[in-house]
Amino acid sequence: MNISKKVVTCRLCGSENLVTILDLGAQPPANSLRKTLDQRIESYPLMICRCSDCTTVQLTETVSPEVMFRDYFWVTGTSDTAVAYAEQFYENIVGRCSSRSLSVVEIASNDGTFLRQFKQKGHRIIGIDPAKNLAETAEKTGVPTISDFFGLQLAKSIRMGHGEADVVIARNVIPHVPNPNDVVAGISHLLSEEGIGAIEFHWVAKILRELHYDSIYHEHYFYHSLRSIISLLSRNGLNIFDVTESPISGGSLVAYFSRTLRQPTVALTEKLALEEREGLFALETWQEFAKSSLEHRIKLKEIITNEIANGKKIIGYGASARSSTLLNFCGIGSNDLVCIADQNPLKHGHFTPGTDILITSPEVAFSHRPDTVLLLAWNFKDEILDRLASIGFHGNVILPLPKMPILIKS
Ligand SMILES: [Zn+2]
Repeated sequence: MNISKKVVTCRLCGSENLVTILDLGAQPPANSLRKTLDQRIESYPLMICRCSDCTTVQLTETVSPEVMFRDYFWVTGTSDTAVAYAEQFYENIVGRCSSRSLSVVEIASNDGTFLRQFKQKGHRIIGIDPAKNLAETAEKTGVPTISDFFGLQLAKSIRMGHGEADVVIARNVIPHVPNPNDVVAGISHLLSEEGIGAIEFHWVAKILRELHYDSIYHEHYFYHSLRSIISLLSRNGLNIFDVTESPISGGSLVAYFSRTLRQPTVALTEKLALEEREGLFALETWQEFAKSSLEHRIKLKEIITNEIANGKKIIGYGASARSSTLLNFCGIGSNDLVCIADQNPLKHGHFTPGTDILITSPEVAFSHRPDTVLLLAWNFKDEILDRLASIGFHGNVILPLPKMPILIKS
């Protein structure tokens, strides 16, 4: 099997005019956690480029999704913020639908946290997720889940078996598939005439403004603007009509669309104008982003080195995929961090890919009596700072992002 392949043409428009923007070095896939350090782990180039024709920013390398998604460690339900958001998301969808009884399909439904909201209110649901372990977890809690990769072919078989869908949800998945045209064609095939779809994606405006280079990892092929999402949808007969901001993932948008044309909302018109104003499509904006990312690395490493020189014991908090990029790019390893605390029990006892730091429960991590916490899951900052206060941690906190890193002294 060909595991990794360099792209020579833009994945969206086929152009050969790709310009490299930022090289984050060879890194292992961000979710390839290991139980023992002698397990072999492969690294692949982690680099983004920009298409000079359609302006879409994307990875230069395609690592086979089969290598990355079959056993997935990110469980939606482990974050309190995500569960609260699932309720709000439900309201956002239902408020835009005319029918009272809906048939809902979610692509990349993870552990079923979002679909459960619909089920509780009596709607019919189907989840789809390629990660077998998550599909099993979802099934156990009453969320019927197909363990497969979604595309036009699967959409056809779902429509034959269950009929059209009134709602199709794809949260944080479109940027994670090497061929999004096939996924969107599937959505278009499945969606009823009056139905609505919702795509949630990490918005490049936030990535650029707040320097989210940690959101670059092998599973994340695309860095989308609203404009690039619109062009992807319209190629497949779908029309965007509204947009809302998502409170999680440190800056995502939810785009709402339908097969029939609907009047665009003011929110949508304003966001599109803002993308233009901020220069999201300019090469210079991305070159500036690359320069700042390199400066960021030096600064963060300096803060950590100084803390250690001052006799501080440091732990990390949050072993997310994003943290893997940050740790590898900045060269922060087990010599710098004693361990990383994470609330997801599936990760405990594993080592971070490439940086070999042990992941433990927060209880075990704080039993080391750390002086400083590196807040790797900085996008859940408020939730984690509350938690640190509630367990009586009063030491220093390093906030790596957004923008330049800062040391919050106790
Ligand atoms: Zn292109």
